[in-house]
Amino acid sequence: MNQTLLGLENLDPGFYIIFYTIISAFGLCIGSFLNVVICRLPTGESLTKQNSHCVKCGTEIKWYDLIPVLSWIMLKGKCRSCGEKISPRYPIVELLNAVIYIITFYFMDFNPQSIILCLFFSLLIAIGFIDWDTQEINLSLLIFGAALAVLSSILTSVLTNEISWFSRITGALYISVPFFLIGQISGIIIKKNTGEFIRGIELGDTILMAIAGFLIGGKAIVISAFIGIIIAAICGMVNKHETGESKFAFGPFLSIGIFFGSLFGEKIIDWWLSMFI
Ligand SMILES: [Zn+2]
Repeated sequence: MNQTLLGLENLDPGFYIIFYTIISAFGLCIGSFLNVVICRLPTGESLTKQNSHCVKCGTEIKWYDLIPVLSWIMLKGKCRSCGEKISPRYPIVELLNAVIYIITFYFMDFNPQSIILCLFFSLLIAIGFIDWDTQEINLSLLIFGAALAVLSSILTSVLTNEISWFSRITGALYISVPFFLIGQISGIIIKKNTGEFIRGIELGDTILMAIAGFLIGGKAIVISAFIGIIIAAICGMVNKHETGESKFAFGPFLSIGIFFGSLFGEKIIDWWLSMFI
């Protein structure tokens, strides 16, 4: 595993403590912003204009009640003015984002690709939670993801060349093409039975896998899809057993898959192939 942060060996342990403290604080703050995105984007509210306010009583939340995680603990998960319960999802999103940043820099070192991946993982948190809430992958988030993928291809081709263009282009197609075909064919079958064209795999999921594939390359996206589909299948079966409902959001599971696929996908595929040689 990569332990040489910034490519420098034998750095003072104090450096790592300071580095990861800054990364954690940064991750928590971005996580706090993700909460705003998750709440407001689906309703079309402005992300920047309005200050944070309680969803029940509408009281504006003071700066000292907006400190990531800590404020929620101090307030015992309740609004200061009306006592309405504040969802534990807020501190969970903040912590999740910070932990993801730490894991990413730990395994990938600190370089242009790992920085872009961190931003992309934050985007996946927003995509995953919004998809979970609304059953839809937000288009503006996908556009932001595509911009990150293009930026990554430009930066790495200039600086490190760690992911080849061939890997990026095949990565964009490997999963998105079968997803598109499955969506199309299942749509036709469902239309025959119910009269309504509903894709088994929606376009948002298909585009997400194309963008992620271009960002992380061919091997990594195959593993990402594999992990995502397995987790989705297990959760889907449990969900159907519990609620009888077979439709559920695919995006959160694909997002989990992409996270693990990005960090370990290439290693997993190389290890798997080496078993047969
Ligand atoms: Zn309130």
